[in-house]
This record gives sequence, structure tokens and C-alpha cells, in this order.
Amino acid sequence: MSRPQRPQRPRPQRPRPSFPKRAVVTGGMPYGNKSLHFGHIGGVFVHADVLTRFLKDRIGADNVIFVSGTDCFGSPIVVKHREMVESGAFEGSLEALVQHYHDLQKATLADYQVAPTLFAASALGAAGKRHKEISRWFFDTLLKNGHLELMSTEQFYDPERETFLNGRQVRGRCPIQGCTAEHAYADECSLGHQYLAKDLIDPTSTLTGQRPELRSVSNWYIKLPELRTELQGWLDGLAADRSSRKYTLATLREFFGEPDLHVVKRHIESLEVLRPSLPPHTEVDSPGSSMTLRFASLAERARACEQLAEAGLQFRNGKTLVPFRLSTTEPWGVPVPDTEQSEALSFWVWPESLWAPISFTAAVLESRGESADAWKQWWCSKDAHVYQIIGEDNVYFYGPAQMALFLGTQGATCDADVPDGQLQVTDLVVNRHLLFLGRKASSSSAQKPPMARELLEHYTADQLRAHFISLGLADKNGSFRPRPFDPDAPEKQGDPVLKEGKVLTGLLNRLARSCFYGCQDHTEGRVPNLRPASAVLASAERSLLDYERLMADKRFPQAFGVAERYIRQANKTWSAGSKAGMADPSAWPQALADSFHTLRVAASLMHPIAPGGCEKIRQQLNLDERLWSWDHIFEPLTFFMEDPDHHGLRTLAPREDFFAPHPSQFRS
Ligand SMILES: [Zn+2]
Repeated sequence: MSRPQRPQRPRPQRPRPSFPKRAVVTGGMPYGNKSLHFGHIGGVFVHADVLTRFLKDRIGADNVIFVSGTDCFGSPIVVKHREMVESGAFEGSLEALVQHYHDLQKATLADYQVAPTLFAASALGAAGKRHKEISRWFFDTLLKNGHLELMSTEQFYDPERETFLNGRQVRGRCPIQGCTAEHAYADECSLGHQYLAKDLIDPTSTLTGQRPELRSVSNWYIKLPELRTELQGWLDGLAADRSSRKYTLATLREFFGEPDLHVVKRHIESLEVLRPSLPPHTEVDSPGSSMTLRFASLAERARACEQLAEAGLQFRNGKTLVPFRLSTTEPWGVPVPDTEQSEALSFWVWPESLWAPISFTAAVLESRGESADAWKQWWCSKDAHVYQIIGEDNVYFYGPAQMALFLGTQGATCDADVPDGQLQVTDLVVNRHLLFLGRKASSSSAQKPPMARELLEHYTADQLRAHFISLGLADKNGSFRPRPFDPDAPEKQGDPVLKEGKVLTGLLNRLARSCFYGCQDHTEGRVPNLRPASAVLASAERSLLDYERLMADKRFPQAFGVAERYIRQANKTWSAGSKAGMADPSAWPQALADSFHTLRVAASLMHPIAPGGCEKIRQQLNLDERLWSWDHIFEPLTFFMEDPDHHGLRTLAPREDFFAPHPSQFRS
């Protein structure tokens, strides 16, 4: 009895992630008083570049703009400039110094094959000019919409230098009784005690060593606490997004605390005496060494702080949304438009660097001959998506502060479910710390962390890119342990930095060479015009779809893992195919058709991560850049050839490599 034939159903289509029509990628801006260190490259720029390259392959190169630039303004640069001029190390202007570091940063990015559409400088050139206009637009719009307020604070002033001092330019002793902190700055000590500037003991200016005076200054702030509901709506939206990183959400939630004050419990008796005179508050049950008082408003908490400080009690402010400062008295900055209430202020570097990527996008589009407000197609459209690669230390700025600035441009009222045409919510891709030899990098530690350029004396860009992208910074701190820089590296252990690079210099390099030499020897230097075996096509499709999903979720190490496993499998396919060809030469054409398909897929998977060697493979194939387009990602190589029967590959010279180790690695 024969069983009834079941109708053949088409294989169910896997649901695929959706991608925007247009994408902007931004990388946190390096400050303009230094060259790039390994953390800039390994913690931010490689990730931004890999995502950019993938998106270009996926949605089309013209639909992706990657912007970043040198953060040029602020007092640390002024201080550095003065020091260098005084010591004779530099003669030029402030602009010239910033230009100098900008050029160094740009060259280093190029050495790592990090290729922003525009790496600008906030103070320089056409992008700098555009940045002034965008800054003015933000200020005027937020002011008109009623989200800004001018507030006075006391700030230290150095009369000899005739300049206001920032918090770190003032040193004194912490006024909290019994404090053993090594440093006390204008209003906080290195142990985290907060106090009023006027209570700092024996303040001195780090610029002149003189005693500074306190002067009242007025600055613009955006009223963050008044946007609490909208910001909460934004946070809820993030929490509902499956690709949001858990750690980021936890960090963001902390900023939304109530206006709490934590008072050390051993001061409890003095506190009880004081409490009746404090503004209305409740006591919140808190385990640990502090007692927590909760106030109804920031203003009331601020008054309580003053009273506690007067009484010499040790306390700490709980995290909550506070007004975010937009301006500074530092003259080296983008000018804030003068108003009836204020004049001669500059934008503080932080808020200004948050909208700088918009200015840079506008500059890119302007250079392409597009209109002055074409940037809105990229930042204000539901069809577009902005990905921001940042380090965890900057979550507050790119999170609540930036969202308040963006939402506030909508009008007097605003909606976290942003309407089309308004500045959209951005996608924060937050990386945790990249440690050097297991410690948080600091230039003052005994083992100085390497500058980005120094690493290229020991590794190729492709090797470092593959390593940095695989460190898993989404979930945990990553440790960078380059053997040439590690005095404690165990004698017999290999270099951990080379682990991922070996997939390139070993496995993928071998596969590529096998394919090219194979067709030179057996099929007259041509890819056989045969359909790859069904199993080969199916396994390629599976890996491509896995990889696409992981890239959409910004899970880079896992995406690299898919590529690695695929390349291992491809080497096995080659082994089996070449064995068959050796036994029976008529098997060579199919074996080569199969292996060239695996090479094409392997190179496509690695193209965003290791563009150098993958481009070399494409050139060797004698094909144009359509090869990388995901519009045709499942097609075999013959699809891209005008005349597959006669398409010649470039001849591969003997012992030629696609992914070579760094010359220094041959020595050992
Ligand atoms: Zn202290």
C-alpha cells in the first residue's frame, strides 16, 4: 500500500528584521586636545564603522551617513594651548592647535579603515559654520517653546587671569568633617561629598595658585524635571524594544529617581534636631549606612542641602532629573545668541556636542548640493533611523539630556511618541568600558595604555577590528590584553588579541587562496558556470539570515561568531571538494562552483568587519561593488558576471595573501 503523496509545501520564510530607508550612524566625539587612544577606536569607532558598513551593504551606500568629529571647544583645550605656548611646544592659535589634533585623529581613523562620511571639527571649516547655525536653531527653538530658564549660581573666578574657573580648576579641602579625600574641587571632593562652593576650605586656583573669589554667574538651563513625563515615556519605549541593552536600561532608570537626600546615619542625632526646620519631606526606608529623606521638589531639596551643609552634616544627593546646563562663561565656544536677559555666553561643550552630529549631517548634505534643511530627512523622518555608538560614561548626556533637547524642539508640549517631521528618538548603542590589562585605563597608571597608532606597529587593522568587535561590550566590561604591551603575559600563552584575527589570516585566507589557485589549476582561471549544490546554497542562506538578525540587534560578537562558524564549515566543503577533484578531475568544476559560493558568502559576512582583505577578494574576483549588496545577497557569483562563461578572474600570484599577519608577528 503506497502512502498518499503529500503536496510539497514551500519552505516557510523566516521573518526578517526590518531596516530603515535611511540611517545615520554617529560615534562619540573625541576631544580636541589629544590623539586617539585605544579606547576611542576599540570602544566606539570600530563598532560604529562596522555597523555603518553593514548598513551600507544592507540598505545601500547612499542611504547611510556616518558622522563624527573633533570636539573643539571648552576650557581644557584653552588650558592645554596656554601650557604648550608657554613651554614653547606650540606657537599657533587655538584653532591651529585643534586643527593639529583633528588631523592626527583623522589620520588614525583612516589607518584603522574607519571611514566616516564626514569626520568634522566643531570649530573648523564649513561644518563648523553649519554647527553655529544649528546651535542657534536649537537655542531659539527651545527658548521660544518655553523650555529654557536662566539661573544664577556661584562660580569661582581667578582675578589675576580674569577668568572663571571650572570645577576642576579649583582645589581646596573638603568641608565635610573628618573627610580624608585626597582632592576637593569647587563643589565636590574625590570621595563624592557634595557641598556649597562657599564652604570649600582654602580654595586655590590651579591656574595661578591664588585664592579665587566667588562671583555670581547666570547660565541657561533646559528644564529637564518639567519634561519628566515625556522622558519617562521615552524610557518606556526603550524598555519595550527587544534590542535595547539591559545594562543601559538599568543605568537610565537610575537617573529617574525622586529628589532624595542620603544622610550618613552616624549624624542621625544632629539630623533629628534639624529635621523640623527642613522643607517638608518623608523618610524613606533605606538599608545601609545612610538615612534617606525624600522631598517634593528639587528646590526644596536644594534648600535642605544648604541647611545640612551649614550644620556640617555629611550627605549625598540621590540621582534625579535636574536642569541641564546649556551655557558657560568660557569664551572659547559656540556663541549663545544674546537675549534681553543674557549676553556673551557660549554653549557648554556637552549640549553643543549632542547636536553636532546634526550639524555634520547638514554639512554632508550641503556638500552634495542639497537644501539647508535636508538634514530633517535623516533626523526627523519616520523612514530614517539614527544609531549612536557611545561609551557607558556618557549615557546621561545622550540619554535624558539629549532627549530633552530633542523633544523640547516640538513645541511648548511634546510627545515621546514623536510625530513624523520632528526630531526622532535615537537608538543608543552603549558600550561598557574597555579595560586595559584588566584595569580602567588611565594615563596616570604605571602601565600606560597605548595610543591607537602604537597598536598598528604590532597588529593589522583587520586583526584589531575583529578583536574589538568581538569583546562583547554590550553586556560587560571587556579587557584588552595585547601581549606586546603586557609585562605579565604568561610565557607560553598566545596573544589573546590575535584570537579572532586568526579566522581571517588563517581560515578565510586559506579558503580564498584555495579557490583562486584551484580555478587557475583546474578551470582555466574561471568560476565554473554551474549552480552551487542545494546544500551549499541552503547553509549559506541560513548563516546570512542569522547574521542579518544579529546585526539588526547590534549583537556584533555573535554576528562575528556566525561568520567564523560559516568559514570553518566552508573550509570543510573545500577539503571534501578538492579530495573529490583529486580522485576524479571531472569533479573539479562543481567543487569550485560550491567553494566559490562559500567564499562569496564568507567575504560578505566579513566585509563590514575586515574590509581590507574582503575588498582584495572582490578585486581578485574582478567584480564591482554590487557584490556586497544585500539586494542580491543569496545569488552566486555568476549572477554578477556580464558573461559568466568568459568572466576571467585576476591571476593570483604565488604565496599572495588576502589577510596577512602583521610583519612583526613573523619574528616570533
Ligand atoms: Zn569629602
